[in-house]
Amino acid sequence: LALLLAACQPREPEIQHLDGQIFGTFYQISLPGSLGKDELARLREGIEAELEAVDASMSTYRDDSELMRLNRQPVGQWLELSAELMTVLSAAQQVAEASDGAFDITVGALVNLWSFGPEARPSRIPEPDELAARLAQSGHTHLQLDQQQHRARRLSDHFVDLSGIAKGYGVDRVSAWLLAQGQDNHLVNIGGDLVGLGERRPGQPWRIGVELPDSSQTQVARHILPIHDLSVATSGDYRNFFEDDGQRYSHTIDPRSGQPMQHRLASVTVLHPSNMLADAWATALMVVGPEQAQELARQQNLMVLLLSREPDGRWSSWSSPALDEQFDSETLKPLSS
Ligand code: ADP
Repeated sequence: LALLLAACQPREPEIQHLDGQIFGTFYQISLPGSLGKDELARLREGIEAELEAVDASMSTYRDDSELMRLNRQPVGQWLELSAELMTVLSAAQQVAEASDGAFDITVGALVNLWSFGPEARPSRIPEPDELAARLAQSGHTHLQLDQQQHRARRLSDHFVDLSGIAKGYGVDRVSAWLLAQGQDNHLVNIGGDLVGLGERRPGQPWRIGVELPDSSQTQVARHILPIHDLSVATSGDYRNFFEDDGQRYSHTIDPRSGQPMQHRLASVTVLHPSNMLADAWATALMVVGPEQAQELARQQNLMVLLLSREPDGRWSSWSSPALDEQFDSETLKPLSS
């Protein structure tokens, strides 16, 4: 989701940008300094190669991806996987366990049923028996990983969907690649999931806007956070949803009921050194709702910002103790209500 405004800082001549499309969304890389045309072209090529490698491995929108091979593998049969896919699957299972199954990459068939996945179709509410059948097959314990031999197998006929974590992994990969090229200062933004390394200018951190979760307004920042060697991911219910009979259905599915989430929690922003984990935790906390999200954020010592819709129509912000430690209260103060 393009929930975060990396573009809080106006385009400045001393910051160069590389933009493009990937994973059904945009990417934007910001690099301070004045790099030559050839160097920029070389960096773009390298960045796109990293993104393409992630897409080729983890997309559910292309039949030839490694992940789709796993999804077609007969139930019970092991499939040997790349180290990259194993990394993401392991992280996903780790967050699944820590969130008591709220984050669950085996929900793909349910995501598809609610029209948010590759099986896109006109928005409609699924039939109860179809929903029950897909729900019975899903569950993160139905996916088994063998770390030693780099392989996985499905223990039921579910559909693995990495949309809640792969983008974050892509951000981490691009950032690591840029670092290896000597680009110590950079901002990588893929569809609103970002990492900011170093500084945008000497003594000035990158600045990230956390969007007001209001689908009727476009990109109004409610918070602006200075980011230094940290990544940020947001999950929200206000960009990717459909409405039926006045009811809003978000693209985050509760793996326990198979239903899209419905609660007053409108967005979850997680800051973490790993964007892969920030991405997964943002989705997990969105699933569990405002009260449990606060509990989990405390328990896991996560830096979290929750934006909720109050009954009187106003917005409220909640920051976790770990986030309060990272930023002073002035920095965390909302810009508007
Ligand atoms: P976005 O991809 O728009 O940034 P998220 O990171 O929150 O948003 O990921 C949401 C996507 O994750 C959904 O579109 C769906 O494909 C998948 N998903 C939905 N519910 C869950 C869940 N409970 N656990 C893991 N992935 C989920």
